[in-house]
Amino acid sequence: MERCRRCPLYKTRTKVVFGTGPVDAKLMIVSEAPGYWEDQKGEPFVGAAGKVLDELLDSAGIKRKEVYIANLLKCRPPENRDPQPEEIKACAPFLERQIEIIKPKIICPLGRYSMKFFMEKFGLEDRIEGISKIHGRLFESKNLFQKIYIIPFYHPAVATYNPKMKGILVKDFKILERFK
Ligand code: URA
Repeated sequence: MERCRRCPLYKTRTKVVFGTGPVDAKLMIVSEAPGYWEDQKGEPFVGAAGKVLDELLDSAGIKRKEVYIANLLKCRPPENRDPQPEEIKACAPFLERQIEIIKPKIICPLGRYSMKFFMEKFGLEDRIEGISKIHGRLFESKNLFQKIYIIPFYHPAVATYNPKMKGILVKDFKILERFK
């Protein structure tokens, strides 16, 4: 990916943020795109939203080092703007390969872009709703070889500008206790 030029974001990135975690992780968390600190360090969720994510995982009794964490986009969009459809499409093969290799049992998309991507990818497009409705719900998708659970959550950054959302996120993340 260091040489990737599939979309214009390579021009402004500092580092590619590929993803972190064990290759045999059961749980995969996929958010939207790197922010300022992630771009500086080349690692996902190392800024303010990362602190919230750590607390959420902790409240569900999950260690960050057990989870594979990635984003739809591996390069930071300027000014942290929303990911564009062409960028998501250009970057998807990398994420799809990560999923093929890791073979997670559960994928938790964070935020509406990631939720939409995974609901579509796993044949759940008929069940897409706004993130305010769909957050914390468990979806099951089956193919010939495996069963996979998709559980969309709000993006943890919402808790940094709206403290009330933190309680909702904590409650939603508790669903993950069931899969330990
Ligand atoms: N927000 C994201 O969506 N991803 C990160 O890696 C960090 C913050």
